[in-house]
Parts: sequence; structure tokens; C-alpha cells
Amino acid sequence: MIIDGKAIATQIREEVKNKVRELTFRTGKNIGLAVVLVGENPASLVYVGQKEKACAEVGITSFKIALPADITQDSLAEKIEELNEDPSVHGILVQLPLPEHLNESAVIEKISPKKDVDGFHPLNIGRLVAGEETFIPCTPQGIIELIERSGFTIEGQEAVVVGRSNIVGKPVALLLLQRHATVTICHTRTRNLGAVTRRADILVVAAGRPRLVKADMVKEGACVIDVGINRVEGKLVGDVDFEEVKKKASVTPVPGGVGPMTVAMLLKNTVFAFEKSLEVS
Ligand code: NAD
Repeated sequence: MIIDGKAIATQIREEVKNKVRELTFRTGKNIGLAVVLVGENPASLVYVGQKEKACAEVGITSFKIALPADITQDSLAEKIEELNEDPSVHGILVQLPLPEHLNESAVIEKISPKKDVDGFHPLNIGRLVAGEETFIPCTPQGIIELIERSGFTIEGQEAVVVGRSNIVGKPVALLLLQRHATVTICHTRTRNLGAVTRRADILVVAAGRPRLVKADMVKEGACVIDVGINRVEGKLVGDVDFEEVKKKASVTPVPGGVGPMTVAMLLKNTVFAFEKSLEVS
């Protein structure tokens, strides 16, 4: 089976759209997302454009804050403070990566944890580790929705995650654990990767290595989520050998798998931020 991330993301966007309509009608307020873009990294420009378009489609107001590449740490911090205080802004996203002279962690820590729709603030990461309700980073949250909405059970299954980054590998492993999978995390120093991945009922691959996972590394009938986005000879390919693996397991395509889910989860997190803001005011 091919796991169609595009179709599932479309369905989620429709759900978000209905929820936005209901919330704005009930409260008389608009839901606002600020997207902060520093400099003109071409990939970042594309991602920001996709996010703005997705917001418009579901009725969320997006505010694009385009700042010069040579902005100082202090000026950027000031801008974020302003957004933290702005009642029309419910979610704040700083598009990464930032130019080299800026300290990314310090910037993320400036974002109010109540508006942290990327879920990267240390307070929200701590809550995620503790299993409390919080903002869940978009890509890992999208991966879980893909698995569940495709009809796979997580509880009691052997789940293997390849990659241990803070934005994908670690949080997705925590989410699988919360849902009662037996979780193993692999990384560059893992001995005999194939022997571990072959155990997986659910295999999530986020290594950033084109076609790292071959068919002989996958269990028959497994659910395989390919997070990788690699450009090879001008073509986008994932971390999984899609053509071979699809013959024996369910797998997400690249593009059209995890990518569309990430944007859909950003919309969901923005609505969550809005609902939280109603609780405190
Ligand atoms: P990263 O480079 O921060 O981390 C990669 C991880 O993979 C590391 O922990 C490393 O130990 C592990 N790894 C690398 N090579 C390996 C190997 N040969 N064997 C075992 N482990 C290995 O990457 P990231 O930020 O987690 O992103 C991973 C991939 O996912 C990239 O291709 C990225 O572009 C993509 N990505 C996609 C989305 C999306 O929305 N679809 C979002 C985030 C990242």
C-alpha cells in the first residue's frame, strides 16, 4: 500500500477549516499566525510561501515578518517580544535555518511558549517528554497522524526510528512511546542497521541519506514512513528505496508523504494556540 500523505493532509486541512470557521464565528476573533523570515534563503522562501497559502485556505490570518539577513540578535529578539505581546498573533514561527551570526536556540527561547506553534521551545519539549498536553513539533505529529489515519495500530508494536535529531527523530520516538510502542532509535553509530530495522512493524526514517533503507532492511507488511527529502540529480528522493520497498510494505512517497502533513499540523497547532489563548483571557 502507498500511504497517501497528500490525501490525508487535505482531509485534515478541511477539518481545520471547519474548526476555524466555528471558532471565529463563536468568538468574533480572527486566528493569527506570524511567520518570521530572516534573509532570503531560497528554500525558506518556498516554505514560508506554502505556509501563507495554507493559512489563507483555512481562514487563518498570516503575518509575514520579513527581516534583513544582517539583523542583530537584539533586534530580532525585540521583534519577537513585540509579537509575544500582540493579541492578534496567536502563533509565532521563526523559519529556520537562521543566518550563521544568529544564535538559533536563543531566538527560539524568546518565543512565548504559549505561541510556540513549532513546539521547539525547551519548556514545550520538556512537557512533551513528560507526556503533558503541549505544542507537538509539526513533522513528528504529522507522522503519527499518517500512521493512525492509515489504520495501523501503534500500541504494542515494535517501532524503529532512524535518526535522532531534535526536530524529527527524538520527538517522534517519544510520541510512539506515549502510544505504547516498543521503541528503538538508530543513528550513525548503530551497528548493523538492517538487523534493527527488519524488526520494525513501524519504521520511521529521518536520516537525510538518499535511499538508505533498501527492501532487505524492511519487514514484510511493515508501515514505513519516509521523512527524508534529498535532491539527487535535480529530483526529490526520500531515505527509502520506494520502488522496491512498496512491493513488500506500506510506504509513504517523497514528495507527497510527510511533507504535506507538516504544513497541516502547523495549522492545527495555530488553532490549538488560539484555543489556549481563550482559556487565559
Ligand atoms: P539531521 O541531519 O538533523 O539528522 C539526521 C539523523 O540521522 C542523525 O541523528 C544521524 O545520526 C542519523 N543518520 C544519518 N545517517 C545515518 C545512517 N547512515 N545510518 C543511521 N542513522 C543515520 O536531519 P533531520 O533534520 O532530522 O532531517 C532528516 C531528513 O528529513 C532530511 O532529509 C530532512 O530534509 C527531512 N525533513 C523532512 C521534513 C518534512 O516535512 N518532510 C521535516 C524535517 C526534516
